[in-house]
Amino acid sequence: MKVLLLRFGELYLKGNNRKIFEGILVKNIEEALNGENFIFKKTFGRYVISNYEENNENILVDKLMKVFGLYSLSRAVEVNADIDEIKNEINKINCLNKSFKIFVKRADKSFPICSMELAKLLGEVVLKNNEGSIVDLYNPEKEIYIDIRLNKKAYVFSEIIKCQGGLPLGSSGQGLLLLSGGIDSPVSGYLIGKRGLKIDALHFHSYPYTSIEAKEKVVELAKKLRSYVGKFKLYVVSFTKVQEAIHMNCSSEYMITIMRRIMMRIAEKICLKNGLGAIITGESLGQVASQTMQSIMVTNNVLDKIPIFRPCIAMDKEDIIKIAESINTFKTSILPYEDCCTVFLPKNPVIRPTIEKAKKEESFLNIEILIQECLDSMEVINID
Ligand code: ATP
Ligand code: MG
Repeated sequence: MKVLLLRFGELYLKGNNRKIFEGILVKNIEEALNGENFIFKKTFGRYVISNYEENNENILVDKLMKVFGLYSLSRAVEVNADIDEIKNEINKINCLNKSFKIFVKRADKSFPICSMELAKLLGEVVLKNNEGSIVDLYNPEKEIYIDIRLNKKAYVFSEIIKCQGGLPLGSSGQGLLLLSGGIDSPVSGYLIGKRGLKIDALHFHSYPYTSIEAKEKVVELAKKLRSYVGKFKLYVVSFTKVQEAIHMNCSSEYMITIMRRIMMRIAEKICLKNGLGAIITGESLGQVASQTMQSIMVTNNVLDKIPIFRPCIAMDKEDIIKIAESINTFKTSILPYEDCCTVFLPKNPVIRPTIEKAKKEESFLNIEILIQECLDSMEVINID
């Protein structure tokens, strides 16, 4: 029987928590494959998916490759852990004029032949059936795996497809991603999801200074992220009045600093109201004036209940772009619509702001009212 054999990654590190983690992973797998017909079985250390429509195998593999916490998978054939049945499967392998290596793993130690001997015996079968084949233990053209599990089944396969790794989504709790239309924030959402944090997202727009297309672009990015981070809520807040107020009342070099401090206050309020435990941004150290160490310190200073996670903090733009391409957000991110941060962009943003000066500038604003107006304008879009 054709099956998909799934391996999970870091779960084994988690001792007593393992059961909880596995429960979450299994639920996420089932959710990812929602709408497909299949049977899901657990055996110690592996999951097995069977009885799916063969035509849909690629679709299943594609979906499973996006599930955090899965380490690798193989398209395999499942037979009873019986020497003749295994041999019968090995008989079907085409290895003409190729070098090969057989890998045997025997989780079930009651299987009567040890791994080495079985590899030798099956190797002889391959050699006999395939003219011009030779064994090459170091650089084989074809790899043949036999995995004998405790459920008295053996799995025969010839490829191991690498999956996402990481931790099952939701196993680290839930946070709020600040999602702009740029390249970095979707990548941050993906990276933090991979560490098990489920996300909702928050986007600030500056309509009518920014276009409707700019908002649609963010919805599009959110939909692309969804295939990795599951369903989520996208909160959309109008930031226009805040920007106008800062523009009118504060020193222009502190414009971005104050904007970011107000964004964080709004994000914190949304977190506290909705049980979200962290804020996630796409900042990268030194990338722009608002991402220097001092700017980050002055931004962090407004929060005391919620941490800010910045998964891209130590990454080069090239590396962020590579990930953006691999998760298919890059092409959307580079569409040329204005972000709210660029609308009132000052010529000379401060590179080393201070908390004192930021507080002084903020004293010219009625911050609580501005924040409340933003929250009142909030729209919630379900990305599902
Ligand atoms: P990105 O490519 O993610 O837009 P960026 O290099 O343009 O990042 P900034 O504009 O300084 O950097 O923004 C830094 C971070 O602040 C973003 O990664 C995002 O997390 C958040 N952010 C910026 N603008 C917005 C916005 N309009 N709505 C929500 N979050 C935002
Ligand atoms: Mg941006």
